[in-house]
Amino acid sequence: MPSALSLPALHASHAGTWLRDAGGSTRGCAKGEAVMAVADTPHLVLNAPLVASRLGYPDLSGLDLLELFAFVHPARFCVPTPKGLAHALGLEEAGSDDAVPALLQRAAARLMQTCEDEGWAEREGAWSTLQSLARVRWPWAQVLGPHVRKPERAEKWLFSRLPEWEETPERPQPQQVLLDELEIEGQLERLTGEGAERREGQRTYARGAGRVFAPRSKEKRPHLLLAQAGTGIGKTLGYLAPASLWAERSGGTVWVSTYTKNLQRQLRQESARAWPAARPDGSPPVVVRKGRENYLCLLNLEDALQGGFSGRPAILAHLVARWAAYSRDGDMIGGDLPGWLGTLFRQRGIAALTDQRGECVYAGCPHYRKCFIERSARNSAQADLVIANHALVMVNAARGRDHAQRPTRILFDEGHHVFDAADSTFSAALTGQESIELRRWIVGPERASRGRRRGLAARLADIASYDEAGGEAIEAAVEASQVLPSEGWLARLAEGMPEGPVEAFLGQVRALTYARDEKGQEAGYGIETEVAQLPGELVETAGVAARALADIRVPLMKLGGRLEAVVEDAPDWLDGQGRARVEGARHSLAWRIDLLAAWEAMLSRLGGPADSEFVDWFAVDRNDAREFDVGLHRHWLDPMKPFAKVVLEPAHGVMLTSATLTDRSEAGPDWPGAIARSGAAHLDLQPAIAQADSPFDYAARAEVLIVTDIARGDIAGLAGAYARLIEASGGGVLGLFTAIRRMRSVHGRIADRLARAGLPLYAQHVDPIDTGTLTDIFRDDPRASLLGTDALRDGVDVPGRSLRCVVMESVPWPRPTILHRARRAAAAEREGGAGRYDDAIIRARLAQAFGRLIRTREDAGHFVVLSPAFPSRLLSAFPEGTPVMRVKLAEALQRVAQGVGSAVETHPESEEAVKTRR
Ligand code: SF4
Repeated sequence: MPSALSLPALHASHAGTWLRDAGGSTRGCAKGEAVMAVADTPHLVLNAPLVASRLGYPDLSGLDLLELFAFVHPARFCVPTPKGLAHALGLEEAGSDDAVPALLQRAAARLMQTCEDEGWAEREGAWSTLQSLARVRWPWAQVLGPHVRKPERAEKWLFSRLPEWEETPERPQPQQVLLDELEIEGQLERLTGEGAERREGQRTYARGAGRVFAPRSKEKRPHLLLAQAGTGIGKTLGYLAPASLWAERSGGTVWVSTYTKNLQRQLRQESARAWPAARPDGSPPVVVRKGRENYLCLLNLEDALQGGFSGRPAILAHLVARWAAYSRDGDMIGGDLPGWLGTLFRQRGIAALTDQRGECVYAGCPHYRKCFIERSARNSAQADLVIANHALVMVNAARGRDHAQRPTRILFDEGHHVFDAADSTFSAALTGQESIELRRWIVGPERASRGRRRGLAARLADIASYDEAGGEAIEAAVEASQVLPSEGWLARLAEGMPEGPVEAFLGQVRALTYARDEKGQEAGYGIETEVAQLPGELVETAGVAARALADIRVPLMKLGGRLEAVVEDAPDWLDGQGRARVEGARHSLAWRIDLLAAWEAMLSRLGGPADSEFVDWFAVDRNDAREFDVGLHRHWLDPMKPFAKVVLEPAHGVMLTSATLTDRSEAGPDWPGAIARSGAAHLDLQPAIAQADSPFDYAARAEVLIVTDIARGDIAGLAGAYARLIEASGGGVLGLFTAIRRMRSVHGRIADRLARAGLPLYAQHVDPIDTGTLTDIFRDDPRASLLGTDALRDGVDVPGRSLRCVVMESVPWPRPTILHRARRAAAAEREGGAGRYDDAIIRARLAQAFGRLIRTREDAGHFVVLSPAFPSRLLSAFPEGTPVMRVKLAEALQRVAQGVGSAVETHPESEEAVKTRR
């Protein structure tokens, strides 16, 4: 086997383009020349969509090393950069851009060599998959063919390889136990390990967390604890100590809910200190549970493999099938499927392989007993610890299939996000996209579309033929749902030619929203308008639409009744699995019936008096001036009201914990505000509160620099400031923006210049890479910098040198939406008023962004805000003792270049402005 594969290779970065021929000579070339070369002969490339975007040639194809890696090492992690690939394969890194093509050749050779190696861990299934991939013309198939030998015995097909889950008896209810504080401390010591530093803050925190597990003394009155724990307290082990003790003593299940996938990953690792990977019977004591749309649906995959997908998506389906055989749990989004795999195929292929639309046929599915989603649900019912996310906990509580599985002890980590998660979970939207989804769920595919997508009639065909009334109800529902929007609805709305009463309503919503728009139109963003002073014609159309929706709901309710009757008086042919399927159908029906009822209520209220509990508005959603949805939205003014009813009330113990649970105004932490946002007041609860401050020495490890000489709106100045800050710090900068457009234009101006200096710059919404992978790339390369928006402000956990400077382009003011205005107005009636409401939002965002900088005791760095108009009252967002300075850019650059803690001569004009808080 040669040490480098003799195929030509191409590498393109912002710094230039390099070609290496099969003979082994590398040269820099113009983009046009590279495009001609790859069009002529397939080249080795790494991340084809990224190379395509660097070359400005979207049709680029080639032999992508990432696809080969996904085939050879399915379910294995690899940062999709030359450096990441080199590390994953144990090769020497390329020292410079021009050495990358040679690395690609070596990497290809190494992967081929692996395929020939007797010890190849992922050999099983490779030969069969390769034959299928050859049939769908995977470019690697021919190259790889001679290196993957045919197995002596036929390989097991994926669907026979996957293990079946076992039905298990319901767990008995947990015993009522009281945890002793000394026992909690003992457990904490065991988890932190012998010789670990004794941290008083963590011990106090763990004892406090233990109290939520005490037996409840009143019905509908859970123990509620709000625990603020500064970064570095060690809160994860702090709560896992009492949680693991309680689970062991009581035989019950504790749910820990997070907002980000990062924290879920971290929790999975940390929980290994308290629980083994498997119990003696093989079942897992710790289960990560996500929404069903995250998991691979085997039935969708089977359809895709058997002709449902063609062209590139078919290749993706085969690579996913290979992964599925090695995956830990079938989680496609944030699990062990590489985040970059989906983007290599530039399509929504991954989403089409999950169960996005609730079309699962449950026990009617031939793969039911192997289904990843069913396995995860069953495992979690038996688990000691379930690691979930806020949205899933709330959805499960609101409309979970199985009451016995609803969590009763819940620890909400990243608790400052519970309000937002409740806000979206308990909201309703009657939009074109939502209603077309409902139509598809009822009617099924209406054009000659491929795949399994089936409507209600096909999913319940056996019931329809057995139960006449049930069959008639299905027919009536399918007939009535013809009034819902169908394909092409957006174009019809734009032309003023809506079809059916719901499209007619949406057409009027759209026209009114544009008519009343004050400023959003030119900006290209979404526009919205309040539901007030409506024209009579719109109110009338809404009434017609409401009646049309009721015509769908009524037969669905009838069908629900028939299904109940069938289960109660089950025919002989309906076995256990059949019953489970009918139960599943009843559950999905109930959810759609509720949805329709909510839409009818929203429509009926138009033109009437406003309900003070809700905020309603019309919106046209747009992206770069391109419309993608139109509709009516409703949110609770206080979403913690339904949260209290649905989540808190049935629970026995709940903790909300975070480093930023309270607003830090100049007067100190605002506990009354945090209690109000916990939903406690709706149950008349008085929650316990606890606070543990961060042990980090912020005064010595961080500096906040407010740059005073970059004028608002000066894009060239802003871009120049970003470039110079990145150069000064030698990379390691996380740049946060409040507007995508500004971020793109800054990136476009500076990426080439920085790349030439060996400082790669990545950006969300610019690079064709998902956010999780962008963060992996950033973490892996201390010279890289990353630009992004909101998702990065909260979700990036990059300890160490890779992140040493956070730069915010401006003060993160809340967007003045209708919902924001309504909540602000409600806040105005309370002490402190509307201004305080806005300030609290901004301070929370600043605190979160600052929190990215110092993750461990060893971290140090600068937090830079490029905005002269930074009000002093917001400075309390930063941790106590953090030095804050108002400086000109030149001085900021010096300070960043020298690192935190170095003496920098202060310019006379900024000396006065230097301020160290408290
Ligand atoms: S049981 Fe449902 S989700 Fe699971 S594989 Fe079958 S159809 Fe897909």
